[in-house]
Amino acid sequence: MALVAEKAKGEGPAIGIDLGTTYSCVGVWQHDRVEIIANDQGNRTTPSYVAFTDTRRLIGDAAKNQAVMNPINTVFGKRFSDSCVRSDMKLWPFKVISGDNNKPMIVVKYKNETKQLAPEEISSMVLYKMREIAEAYLGSVVKTAVVTVPAYFNDSQRLATKDAGLIAGMNVMRIINEPTAAAIAYGLDKKVSSTGGKNVLIFDLGGGTFDVSILKIEDEIFEVKATTGDTHLGGEDFDNRMVNHFVQEFEKKHKKDISKNPKALRRLRTSCERAKRTLSSTTETTIEIDSIFEGKDFFSKITRAKFEELNMDLFLKCMESVENCMRDAEIDNSIIHDIVLVGGSTRIPKLQQLLQDFFNGKELCKNINPDEAVAYGAAVQAAVLSGGVEKVQDLLLLDVTPLSLGVRRYTGKTTVMIPRNTTIPTKKERVFTTIMQNQSGIIIDVVEGERIMARDNKLLGGMVLSGLPPSPKGVPSISVCYEIDANGILVISAEEILLTGRKKKITINDYKNRLHSWEIEKMVKEAEKYKAEDEENKKKEEAKVLFELYAYGLRDSVNDLALNEANKKTIVDAVKKALLWLNANQLVECSKYDDERAKLESLCNPIIAKAKMRQNAGSKSQACSKVGR
Ligand code: AMP
Repeated sequence: MALVAEKAKGEGPAIGIDLGTTYSCVGVWQHDRVEIIANDQGNRTTPSYVAFTDTRRLIGDAAKNQAVMNPINTVFGKRFSDSCVRSDMKLWPFKVISGDNNKPMIVVKYKNETKQLAPEEISSMVLYKMREIAEAYLGSVVKTAVVTVPAYFNDSQRLATKDAGLIAGMNVMRIINEPTAAAIAYGLDKKVSSTGGKNVLIFDLGGGTFDVSILKIEDEIFEVKATTGDTHLGGEDFDNRMVNHFVQEFEKKHKKDISKNPKALRRLRTSCERAKRTLSSTTETTIEIDSIFEGKDFFSKITRAKFEELNMDLFLKCMESVENCMRDAEIDNSIIHDIVLVGGSTRIPKLQQLLQDFFNGKELCKNINPDEAVAYGAAVQAAVLSGGVEKVQDLLLLDVTPLSLGVRRYTGKTTVMIPRNTTIPTKKERVFTTIMQNQSGIIIDVVEGERIMARDNKLLGGMVLSGLPPSPKGVPSISVCYEIDANGILVISAEEILLTGRKKKITINDYKNRLHSWEIEKMVKEAEKYKAEDEENKKKEEAKVLFELYAYGLRDSVNDLALNEANKKTIVDAVKKALLWLNANQLVECSKYDDERAKLESLCNPIIAKAKMRQNAGSKSQACSKVGR
């Protein structure tokens, strides 16, 4: 099976997908502008949630809506295997285990069977949903996409994102950084002044993550100068502060602690999130929750000032990150030309004010919906790469390495080959030699991170250049080259240049956590199976709805028909029985719904037909008698 399909006739345009931690968003370039596409619920962002039940798989709103009832089989919140995923594991309601090579695997129960899914597979399901949303809107097949990732994503996470695209049946033409996409959305590349380019700061604060990046844009080239942030800071923290505030208030008022009651807390959290949003446009709002705990209602108020006080340390932490990012990029705040807001939490007025004050009152770019700016830019980039946008045809994107890449020396220390924040694509070479007499080979262990000792960094992979001829120590010259392409994919090569010319090359495709091609193929097949099951479920759903509508229609019309008591009871009882059956058979074969509906029809339709005939005859004779009078 070909993993990447050739572009076929009838194929739709390339799409841009913001694959987010909590929400994802899809856009397409059409009619000379970007359209952000709404999903089947009419929402322009879709929860990055996947859920499994006894009968089906759910993605997006449907998955999120049932999360409270089915927490252990509802997967959300992180994109790929990395160290922070591991530390987050304890907080997740779903189960994650260590698979082959220590790769985290998500364990869910689907149709009463236990399944293990790779993180890429979960992401592929979200990507698949985004593709489906675009296809429904465009009325054509979508096979190519640009997908965004956080600027700090490492090589393996970028590759995993590409794999997720493949499993979802799409060729990911380019992985771009979220801040780069946001800058493209604002067309900042096109507004560059002729001298020296411009510096753009992207402030991205979502539900659970915070990123600050500084881009330099010059001659339509985007260079990420620096990126900082916090993978555990966002809107949910602000919600938590408000929740704690009200838990204490409830305790004071009613002498009861609601913090141990998950249902009460959940209801309080939902109200707090709503109040927080309201406080972005008003200065005071209310919380009203009936019967929150032991029959007690909870009504209270909160002002914007109180909300700001509760969160001020977190807001200041965000500003500290801005300062750090400026320091990393080695620029001072007077030479930031634009400040772009991304992520729902940037609607908070206090944050906007702090940011504006930091930059001496500079206007912020906030006229594109902050939830959509990244997908917007990805859609522009998708059009550029597929030749849909002429003017910016030559647009090049430059990103940086989020972490240093190095090689482990025999001393156990790391020699940095590509320093952190180096613009990519990049290529760095260095010559090494042997440390022993007649050493026949050298090991090249590739590590990622900023620590001095290689063991404290992350081992990405390794290779051995063997077959060196016997020679004194220090004689062979082995040139090691680290090269990163525009997609951020790392290739390592080594060549003995003095004696033999022996060469070896690895792509950090071989990175141990990455999926093998056969695994991807298997997942593609699985994805097709899921798709077929989803379609089958849709048909079942339709058959069920048809039956339900018929039964409810009968129930609602029974009193309007001229029925004797016995016939009325027959229909009412049959409808009751049918609804009970429907309740007990949530998703069964279409034929079963059709059979049950046919049974109900054959019992009720003759009775109704007779009643209608009687009614018609009655109204005719009434009409005749009226005419005759
Ligand atoms: P994102 O991850 O970018 O979708 O951001 C979602 C976060 O933005 C959630 O925590 C929301 O509560 C928050 N959010 C959305 N709208 C507002 C608003 N008007 N004011 C404050 N926070 C908001």
